[in-house]
Amino acid sequence: MERLSTDPKFADIEENLKVIRERIAAAASESGRSPDDISFMAVTKTIQPVYINHAIDCGINLIGENRVQEYLEKAPDLNLDGVSFHLIGHLQTNKVKKIVGKADVIESVDSVNLANEISKHAKNAGITQDILIEINAGSEYSKFGFDPGEVKEKVLEIGETEAVRVKGLMCVAPICDKKSDLIKIFQNMYNIFIDIKAKKSDNIFMDILSMGMSGDYEEAILCGANLVRVGSAIFGPRIYRDRH
Ligand SMILES: *Cc1c(COP(=O)(O)O)cnc(C)c1O
Repeated sequence: MERLSTDPKFADIEENLKVIRERIAAAASESGRSPDDISFMAVTKTIQPVYINHAIDCGINLIGENRVQEYLEKAPDLNLDGVSFHLIGHLQTNKVKKIVGKADVIESVDSVNLANEISKHAKNAGITQDILIEINAGSEYSKFGFDPGEVKEKVLEIGETEAVRVKGLMCVAPICDKKSDLIKIFQNMYNIFIDIKAKKSDNIFMDILSMGMSGDYEEAILCGANLVRVGSAIFGPRIYRDRH
């Protein structure tokens, strides 16, 4: 695709990535880790391939999309060599077949039924699909994910599923008026992560704790996140076109 050098968005993306990388590095070292311990995902929903490719040119090697259809439409125009892709939005069971094997990780596994469906299609394809378990960290009525109180039991249940590999946990934090409430939620996520990790079940690898977005990735890292998912802080505000 033709790149117009006059488009100021290219320079913005480059500058934003630089600033975010610096902040990630500072939060990582404040939490006693190296910047390399933190995976930095560019969330690319609603963003045109030409801008996504620019972020990739600037060193992004992990992208996330919410919707299967949008990813499949954009993927042929993306320079995905050496770039991982995670699905991070709610996945309907009737879309599972289209994405199994195409996503390096499906982060948004929010029911045992969905895990079973993923396993079924992964098995047919002869692969094991890496997944994260989504937690509804603020127990919000409107959000997807397991309740924090039930998640340990459900992770163990999903761990029994044949062709999926549980790689960790993810959450979308609720909007909190007070930073201290947000920190409590992230700390609770970290405690659940460590608890499950300590159980050392065969098919459960608590390697990835995916939390923190544009507004709260530094807090998330300070509480133990090792994957942050950042969209608007890289690409600017999203413009939603009519989807129907
Ligand atoms: C959109 C989205 C993000 C990124 O949100 P920003 O606030 O733009 O950084 C991260 N995670 C999920 C699950 C999302 O849907």
